[in-house]
Amino acid sequence: MSKVLVCGGGGFIGNHLVKRLKADGYCVRVADLKRNEFSPSAADDFRVGDLRDLQFTREVVDEIDEVYQLAADMGGAGYIFTGEHDAAVMHNSATINLNVLELGRSAGVQKFFFSSSACIYPEYNQLDPDNPKCSEDSAYPAAPDSEYGWEKLFSERLYFAYMRNFGVEVRVARFHNIFGPEGSWCDGREKAPAAICRKVAQADSGGEIEIWGDGRQTRSFLYIDECVEGVRRLMDSPFTGPVNIGSEETITINGLAHLAMDIAGKSLSIRNLLGPTGVRGRNSDNRLIQERLSWKPSQPLRKGLEITYRWIEQQVAICKPAQHLPTPSLP
Ligand code: NAD
Repeated sequence: MSKVLVCGGGGFIGNHLVKRLKADGYCVRVADLKRNEFSPSAADDFRVGDLRDLQFTREVVDEIDEVYQLAADMGGAGYIFTGEHDAAVMHNSATINLNVLELGRSAGVQKFFFSSSACIYPEYNQLDPDNPKCSEDSAYPAAPDSEYGWEKLFSERLYFAYMRNFGVEVRVARFHNIFGPEGSWCDGREKAPAAICRKVAQADSGGEIEIWGDGRQTRSFLYIDECVEGVRRLMDSPFTGPVNIGSEETITINGLAHLAMDIAGKSLSIRNLLGPTGVRGRNSDNRLIQERLSWKPSQPLRKGLEITYRWIEQQVAICKPAQHLPTPSLP
């Protein structure tokens, strides 16, 4: 049985991925700063610790065949676009990737999956909300709009350099706004779908919710199960990437709020106000992944948002306080 390590397996995507890897028959170890707040991990072996720490990283990569590297200092627009966490985001995530790759390949790990992001794409191609360009070959000349994106781009290059120089196998995916149950929804790191579902769930019918920006910025959102399927297909194929894993169903942020209201059966007004928003328009370009992995999302946005809304509504109802992830400070 192959032994895999999921770095960041206590987080949103990692926790779902661990369930899938167990269902696929793998022996799974997790390394994370914390356990998932919402459900017990399916992992065989859960190690709580810091991947910036060399000794901890050395221990967790021992006797591992494949690594899924999802650990990162990350969050939604309220975390990565304010500028307040720039140094920590760059330092923490880069250190994790440097440690996991170097100590992993020294220990004999054969294959690495790295979760990059749509945030690597240049801002100059995402100024028109109706016509963003996010094909994989448009990443350069590089001009991401956040330090989070720059770190991801550096780390993509790091993984491919290790592939060329040390012969390890590497797979890189650029995720586009993954959402679903059991992700951050009120700890300051939540992303737009969770934040909007929470605001709608908390509002009284006839009330008002706040949306950052003019609400005309566009995005696409991918449900978690689709993301995990894309990751597994990429890992099992000879294609290295980088490749987008996202949805091509574009919606404005105000449109997303209206969709959540419709699901909730609530009529609310929207107050658009100044806030961190990121680029004007972004959408996944799935031509490459369809061609190489025959993958595309199987369900419309509404279906995933219905499941997510019901889960967040329950969290709001039981007022389950989200465990605040301690912001990893610089060592
Ligand atoms: P998440 O924050 O839920 O999970 C990240 C996990 O990494 C957390 O559990 C955190 O505790 C852990 N971690 C952070 N620093 C660590 C450290 N020093 N040592 C050990 N563990 C550490 O985020 P997610 O949404 O599950 O994202 C997973 C990956 O996918 C990240 O690399 C993220 O950048 C990438 N990604 C996510 C999205 C998205 O929409 N969710 C989009 C693009 C890229």
